[in-house]
Amino acid sequence: MARIGIAGAGLLGRLLAWQLAGTHEVTVFDPANGPQARSDGRGPAAFTAAGMLSPLAELDNSGPAIAALGWRSMVLWREITDELSQPDTFRTLGSLLVAHGSDLGAAQRVLARLAQAPDLAGVVQTPQRLDRAALAALEPAIDPRLHAWLLPGEGQILPLQVLPALCAAAPRVRWRWQHTVASVAPGRIVLDDGSEQRFDLAIDVRGTGARPDLPVRGVRGEVVWLQAPGVPLHRPVRLLHPRHRVYIVPRPGDHIVIGASEIESEDRSPVSLRSAVELMAAAQSVMPELAEARIVHLETNLRPARPDNEPRIDTEDGLLRINGLYRHGWLLAPALAQDALAALGLPAAPLRGFPPPVPEGGHSLRPGEARSATVLDQASAHVDLC
Ligand SMILES: Cc1cc2nc3c(=O)[nH]c(=O)nc-3n(C[C@H](O)[C@H](O)[C@H](O)COP(=O)(O)OP(=O)(O)OC[C@H]3O[C@@H](n4cnc5c(N)ncnc54)[C@H](O)[C@@H]3O)c2cc1C
Repeated sequence: MARIGIAGAGLLGRLLAWQLAGTHEVTVFDPANGPQARSDGRGPAAFTAAGMLSPLAELDNSGPAIAALGWRSMVLWREITDELSQPDTFRTLGSLLVAHGSDLGAAQRVLARLAQAPDLAGVVQTPQRLDRAALAALEPAIDPRLHAWLLPGEGQILPLQVLPALCAAAPRVRWRWQHTVASVAPGRIVLDDGSEQRFDLAIDVRGTGARPDLPVRGVRGEVVWLQAPGVPLHRPVRLLHPRHRVYIVPRPGDHIVIGASEIESEDRSPVSLRSAVELMAAAQSVMPELAEARIVHLETNLRPARPDNEPRIDTEDGLLRINGLYRHGWLLAPALAQDALAALGLPAAPLRGFPPPVPEGGHSLRPGEARSATVLDQASAHVDLC
């Protein structure tokens, strides 16, 4: 059993803590007050995320490696949500691409890129054109005049349910809420009050909070929560539009989340009037019945991105860093976590999924580095079990 310290209780932090808790002594540090989402949208990007699992649609923004990780993660999410006894938080009903007639040219260019989807471990998915009747059968609230394509196999996860569930399913983990990490080094986590904790393995999954240890930036995203009783929506929908790439995602309780904007800014201030108007107008052009929906709240957050917008796993003795999950963290996290743990030779929860790659010269834990109790261990005031 190794002593493992994790900086960051966002998506990766919770996933890793849950996977490692069965076989290791795990401590997690995060500045948040506790495991739940904050009403102002601060905290992990993971809480704000739409939760679309779109390996095919993301080919429009990224390469085949992301798609391959995504398809693997889809298999893992099924196992994870089953293990968490939350099977309803993960669905693979496919997703839809839609376009207005006037934007068909731009849509065709996107579709041509997606049509080149690589054959990944026997998973070959390409967009399927839907006629009016097929669209009405799948999604009756979508304007039937729109052009529509089904992306089979794509999925959706419910972040607001899965994040607390991961935490609750790992009761042996020491969740140190209200603890901000200043730096992470091999076998060492230093808090912002200068105190230091020693571990066999230190894991840095602080997302945008990992600076200056890592060259990450935040990319602003904005979402609008609507409540729309009686307006059916079963799967994520993306509007292919030259300017407004809006997505519309169903959530429990008659809720619908609209999102889009990707702004190169770390501004966490509230959603601008222009963004809100554009998002909602575009969404209403897809689903006219949203006109009577109620605006529940608006939220902004920052996607953690590296300079090349690619995710990255860095390992060395006593240290693991994963960052740069950018706009597809939910899509990638399980496969990245699996690869990282395999590279370190760490046994984790028995998830099957696709077999992880055989580690090549992976770094293992340096034995005997762990120190016993520190000041933090005695400071139980901020320990919060999920
Ligand atoms: C608007 C929006 C929509 C999105 N939609 C999707 C989507 O549909 N599908 C998809 O796959 N992905 C989506 N994403 C991306 C996804 O949310 C992120 O890629 C993912 O959350 C990254 O996971 P992470 O664990 O690296 O970071 P985070 O989830 O951001 O977690 C980082 C954690 O580190 C903690 N932390 C920060 N600083 C410190 C510190 N100094 N000390 C200790 N802890 C610290 C934070 O409090 C947080 O808990 C979206 C993101 C946004 C913002």
